[in-house]
Amino acid sequence: MGDAQLFIDGVWADAQSGETFPTYAPSTGEKIADVAKAGREDAQRAVQAARKAFDDGPWPRMSGKERAEKLRAVAAIINGRSAEIAEIEARDGGGTIKKAMFADVPGAASTFEAFANCAENEPDVVDRGESPFPPAKSIVRREPFGVCSGIVPWNFPFLMAGWKIGPAIAAGNTVVLKPASFTSLSAIEMVKAVQEADIPPGVVNLITGPGGSAGEELAQHPLVDKVAFTGSTEVGRRIMQLASGTVKKVTLELGGKSANIVLDDADLDLAAAGVLWGTFFHNGQVCESGTRALVSRKIYDEFVGMLVERAGKIVIGDNMDMNSDLGPLVAPSQVDTTERYVKLGLDEGAKLLCGGSKPTNLPAGLDQSAYYLPTIFEADNSMKIAQEEIFGPVLCVIPFDSDDEAIKIANDSIYGLGGGVWSKNLDRAHSMAASMRTGTVWVNDYHMITPTQPFGGYKQSGIGRELGDYGYNEYRQIKHVWQNTATDRSGYLHFAALSGNI
Ligand code: NAD
Repeated sequence: MGDAQLFIDGVWADAQSGETFPTYAPSTGEKIADVAKAGREDAQRAVQAARKAFDDGPWPRMSGKERAEKLRAVAAIINGRSAEIAEIEARDGGGTIKKAMFADVPGAASTFEAFANCAENEPDVVDRGESPFPPAKSIVRREPFGVCSGIVPWNFPFLMAGWKIGPAIAAGNTVVLKPASFTSLSAIEMVKAVQEADIPPGVVNLITGPGGSAGEELAQHPLVDKVAFTGSTEVGRRIMQLASGTVKKVTLELGGKSANIVLDDADLDLAAAGVLWGTFFHNGQVCESGTRALVSRKIYDEFVGMLVERAGKIVIGDNMDMNSDLGPLVAPSQVDTTERYVKLGLDEGAKLLCGGSKPTNLPAGLDQSAYYLPTIFEADNSMKIAQEEIFGPVLCVIPFDSDDEAIKIANDSIYGLGGGVWSKNLDRAHSMAASMRTGTVWVNDYHMITPTQPFGGYKQSGIGRELGDYGYNEYRQIKHVWQNTATDRSGYLHFAALSGNI
């Protein structure tokens, strides 16, 4: 399935140790590639290459328009190879080919396009006008941070690589990317597109390998100026600690346990489809999944009946088949975690409404143990299955009696990443949205993310925002330049304070 090497300073190479690790197709358990296993020394080399490219290379010195053209070239190359990349993405990560073709690959290409627009249109220098001491005036410059490291998870490997590389290089930074060990292959394809677009050596570097060594090095290396991390809250805390040694800029996109609120005046057909989509898309392996459905007691029985009936119709199968809605989970460890939480839910007294086991009737050739049925519990919000991120196909349905109570339950979480409100009354829905302590709220929809609008978390779901001009500016320093053209300073207080000496 192509090269699986590191990319440092414009050169594909094995890890210095020569070590590799295998990557498997989750649906069959078949090994699909050996991937270079980067160690600390490889990460250090990559950071040094990125440093050199930033300090001495042309990239940060090019105009935004010139950089934008290169980013658009990357997008065009990705779009031109979309079928091939989608296949690599789906095989390696276990997501459906449908998801790869309609979300991951075009989403990554449009991310490069959106940040090309930022590079071209967002001003680098803003005249802020006269100061209180005219003719002195203020000018604010936006400048790249320098070397950025991007560390990403396995659930949307190609898209997340784009979310890290796109804004970093659009703003004139250089970058070292580390994908998750389960899913290295599509990041290699993205870097090939960068190489083909003739982006100078050292601007984008790729390190594949374990988080505990190569990843830690990227989070703490003194030559790194900014760390952008997407992954679990637990590792996010560790990243903050590591980055604090040299007080790096840190942005974190972490876990979630988002509430999808169904009000009594919702279009129930639409809301039932939205709640199932909101949880079971990609088997719940989505950070902003609506894994807690809060349902008005006025419509509770009817609505829960609809959920259970429709959950049974979700098509589980070969993830490379366009007809499959769900494929396997990313790895046996993720199936184990799901099983552990389902058992915990039963022990806690949650009522299992459907699922709760692996499927038994999958086509021959698929590894049945890698799959899990969409599972719905009636739960209490205080239960661990309603508080902790499972990252598997498990939905907790929780009844409520008033809008205020729904908000209380929604906000009773350490997380605040996504959320939904289903109602025909937009004023009521927006008032709920305003009270939810979370970075994204979808009104009568779910999971819709666009590269031009901000995405990120409240509370322990993260720090900072990705995407859009908000995300772009997370990759730019702010510099205040004070300019004074006055020759007579006699009226100036600060000069007067030392007037005898100047
Ligand atoms: P993870 O935290 O285990 O790993 C994420 C990345 O960090 C991987 O590349 C891993 O190799 C690396 N890593 C692990 N330990 C490290 C360390 N000590 N130092 C540096 N790097 C280290 O997460 P995962 O299992 O790959 O992904 C699932 C998690 O990601 C879930 O919690 C999910 O909610 C979260 N996620 C969040 C978002 C978001 O935008 N908020 C998006 C996708 C996934």
